[in-house]
Amino acid sequence: MQVPAPFEYERATSVDHAIGLLERLGSSARLVAGGHSLLPMMKLRLANFEYLIDINGLRDELGYLRIGSGEIRIGALTRHGELLESDELAAAFPIFRDAERVIADPVVRNWGTLGGSLCQADPSEDLSAVCTTLDARCVIRGPRGERIVPMTEFHHGPYETAVGDGEILTEIRFPVRPRGGSAFEKVERRAGDWAVVSAGAAVWLDENGRITDARVGLAAVGPNTTALPAVAAALRGREPSERLYEAAASIAARGCRPDTDMRGSVEYKRHLAGELTKRALRRSVERALERRS
Ligand SMILES: Cc1cc2nc3c(=O)[nH]c(=O)nc-3n(C[C@H](O)[C@H](O)[C@H](O)COP(=O)(O)OP(=O)(O)OC[C@H]3O[C@@H](n4cnc5c(N)ncnc54)[C@H](O)[C@@H]3O)c2cc1C
Repeated sequence: MQVPAPFEYERATSVDHAIGLLERLGSSARLVAGGHSLLPMMKLRLANFEYLIDINGLRDELGYLRIGSGEIRIGALTRHGELLESDELAAAFPIFRDAERVIADPVVRNWGTLGGSLCQADPSEDLSAVCTTLDARCVIRGPRGERIVPMTEFHHGPYETAVGDGEILTEIRFPVRPRGGSAFEKVERRAGDWAVVSAGAAVWLDENGRITDARVGLAAVGPNTTALPAVAAALRGREPSERLYEAAASIAARGCRPDTDMRGSVEYKRHLAGELTKRALRRSVERALERRS
């Protein structure tokens, strides 16, 4: 199928208007942001909705990048291309630019949004791995006001999120801590493809170069992007070294839950999860050390 089933189209004029439409139209309605995940699913008839509520007119309310000293706030309608191009974001969190360079192609990056990526809840979504790694907080607004959900609780399973009926993801917040470094690694079958496996890492160092905290997020190796607290526990308080990265890699390889599919076998994906974790950690530490000097 190349043509979606017929649907009605509404263009939201404000976030409150979108919430009102969602409330009124119920589960027969869906928001459309970049449309790069929703529309292919509708064309393939994997999803059918009677109403699409277009939020692309809400750039003033939802399309922004606010870089603060202690926190970065990104509106849900911010596009892949904007995340790729922001030098300020790359300075604070180089993991974003690493990831955006290997997400899809310019056409998708010109329209696809951060909010759409997280709400699609595809287990292979690279930005979900980035947000998990950076310990993001998701701001969800609905008829009863606003609530904040940590990234670790945002995905309830493949294609399921904490965003409830009548609600909209409005903003994603990222804590900024001193002496941090981050990186993203991905293996795909061809340029612009979804990940066979991808891995994000972030580390924070003390004045003596010891790891005070670390986080790793993997994509395409479990029902949803996988945060690995055991990796963080193994790294905290330790001096960075190749041996330490090896130990973290082996925890990541054992701790993920890949399936065999057209992209690779369980064994191959576990191998990649370990190898990419190691590379991302090594690069994160190098970047954190560069910032210190
Ligand atoms: C050819 C191709 C290659 C791709 N390759 C990659 C890749 O390599 N890596 C990768 O990570 N991604 C990839 N993607 C996915 C791409 O990143 C999409 O843009 C992204 O997944 C969805 O963003 P969107 O804005 O297009 O969302 P949409 O398709 O508009 O929406 C997706 C879902 O999120 C909901 N939604 C959207 N915004 C909100 C909101 N603010 N609040 C609540 N619900 C909302 C919609 O209702 C819908 O259910 C690829 C896509 C294509 C078409």
